[in-house]
Amino acid sequence: MDNEANLDNKRVPLQEIVANSDNNVEIRGSCAVTETNENAKSMRTNRAGERVWSLASFDIGRRLGGGSFANVFLAREKKSKFIVALKVLLKKDIKQKNLELQVIREIDIQAHLIHPNILRLYEYFHDESRIYMILEFAPKGSVYSKLLECPNKRFSEGVAGVYVAQIADALHYCHSKKVIHRDIKPGNLLLGQNEEIKLADFGWSVHGPSSRRSTQCGTLDYLSPEVVLGKTYNEKVDLWSLGVVCYEFLTGKTPFDCSNSHGICKKISKGQFSVPSFVSNEAKDLIRKLIVLEPDSRLDSIGVLEHPWILKHKTS
Ligand code: AMP
Repeated sequence: MDNEANLDNKRVPLQEIVANSDNNVEIRGSCAVTETNENAKSMRTNRAGERVWSLASFDIGRRLGGGSFANVFLAREKKSKFIVALKVLLKKDIKQKNLELQVIREIDIQAHLIHPNILRLYEYFHDESRIYMILEFAPKGSVYSKLLECPNKRFSEGVAGVYVAQIADALHYCHSKKVIHRDIKPGNLLLGQNEEIKLADFGWSVHGPSSRRSTQCGTLDYLSPEVVLGKTYNEKVDLWSLGVVCYEFLTGKTPFDCSNSHGICKKISKGQFSVPSFVSNEAKDLIRKLIVLEPDSRLDSIGVLEHPWILKHKTS
């Protein structure tokens, strides 16, 4: 399987992270996932003396969000009071929707990525009916929700510049490890305690030295022309999506907006868009260097980090 090659970061066991952390968020709300007798055999250790996690290891709080086959809950590890987000997936749904490979990839890839702008996956466990992913809790929610709260659904250039720099940094790290995220969009960008980007949802990600792929996946508005047209592609698809995200941050709209998906695909494959005049020339220049039809001519993550508009707004 192409995602099994070495990602050279060693996973840090949750118990170690817990021991070195003082995250102390109060947890409120009702228990939405019920414990079973099986789960009650909680605080077990394996032969190596490592903690074996089960649902009974956590107090479960409010639902943070969810999609078609996963729900995410705020949770607190009982012994340490360490706050996490618990992503719960039903095995029968995964099977029904043939998502086994996607879930294996998500866990295998995310567990090995350790970067300040990437949401940590600490551990996972499962019981008879569900798979549980123990994730870093992102207390400030998603960038998408924050964008919706802004006047005209736009960020200032200063805020957008900092976010784009942090996403580019996370992508640079992913790409250096031969990981392509393939679903960069505001809904998959969460915010940490200091409002820093936490790239999340590696459900569509892929890892492997073979750099050219052709599987169609991701979210239409953010898809690159090579993906839309079913061509082979590489990590540059994430840079196209970053260009679309940057455009959306600054204008409140996606560049290839259309009432139907056929129209969106047509516009994407032509790569034709216009940037409103209120966007600064430097920001326009970055967008125009990312939303480029030819992947080899598209800026890479280092190019983004060195772009004058990013250097102007980047905090560190
Ligand atoms: P997902 O199914 O992973 O896309 O998550 C759906 C929603 O749940 C996200 O858009 C967030 O609002 C919320 N969410 C997911 N993971 C976390 C997390 N680690 N911390 C806080 N909120 C989260």
